Amino acid sequence: MTDKYAVIGNPIAHSKSPQIHKMFAEQTGQDISYEAILVASGPDDFTAEIIGLRKDGYKGCNVTVPFKQHAFQLGIIGLTISLSEDVTHAMAANTLKFLNGGIQLENTDGTGLVRDLTENLGVDLRGKRLLLVGAGGAARGVILPLRRTGANVIITNRTADKALALAKRFIVSGCSYEELVSKKFDIVINATSSGLSDEMPDIPESIFAPSSLAYDMMYGRETPFMKFAREHGAAVVSDGLGMLVEQAAESFFIWRGVRPETAPVIAALRKQQ
Ligand code: NDP
Repeated sequence: MTDKYAVIGNPIAHSKSPQIHKMFAEQTGQDISYEAILVASGPDDFTAEIIGLRKDGYKGCNVTVPFKQHAFQLGIIGLTISLSEDVTHAMAANTLKFLNGGIQLENTDGTGLVRDLTENLGVDLRGKRLLLVGAGGAARGVILPLRRTGANVIITNRTADKALALAKRFIVSGCSYEELVSKKFDIVINATSSGLSDEMPDIPESIFAPSSLAYDMMYGRETPFMKFAREHGAAVVSDGLGMLVEQAAESFFIWRGVRPETAPVIAALRKQQ
């Protein structure tokens, strides 16, 4: 019998997850369906949807904006949940696996980013000076996995206090944009949503070390950050499409115990851009 999965979000029409999981299923021979479900933005609507999906026999789901933090709170309504270390630290989950006795919560964004950096882009992160720009949900989800690689992580944000609070929580360094003036980094990751509005975080031009990598978590088009990085010395510039596919592959693995090949899926999605 076909096992049912879904991605829940608002908005959701733009999501590439159904296409990605369809390709994973074809490639691995797993008998699954995967659909996108739009849910009204309130936490109660989200909780009701999760309860409904479990009742309807779904095996799990992905959770995207704005529900990742709501997923972390599911235990409050009396459901038995198990939290991975990444979920506990990020206080957000993007992958839910429905079990007989409860729900397993995972956050695969960080694993997805680290795999894209290390395996697809071939970067050795150990000892590298890594600047993470942004202090929202995406940043929170990737700090611990980045720290585990042995990179020296520094967080900065337009609202500096948020970066400093995250730095304290995750035991890494934090600073304001102004304090970046005399610093250089081997890897600069844009985890802000600035690209969505075609804006650019106001970071100094001088931050890219020779041979540096600039990475924007956004995908689908060249962002102002990517253009800025090209113009100011970054040797390699990447968008976040690889991270998207890698985090999906990790979800697929959690659900099915089978690891799909990501390279052909990334290539297929690149062709559509
Ligand atoms: P949030 O809304 O939680 O956080 C937004 C962050 O962006 C804040 O730090 C905010 O700063 C900052 N910001 C917004 N606009 C600007 C600007 N013009 N200049 C500087 N900073 C700005 O968003 P998320 O963390 O959920 O998402 C961030 C990005 O990551 C999105 O583009 C999303 O698509 C992408 N993403 C990609 C994934 C992938 O798989 N590739 C996975 C998850 C996310 P402040 O605190 O000052 O307001």
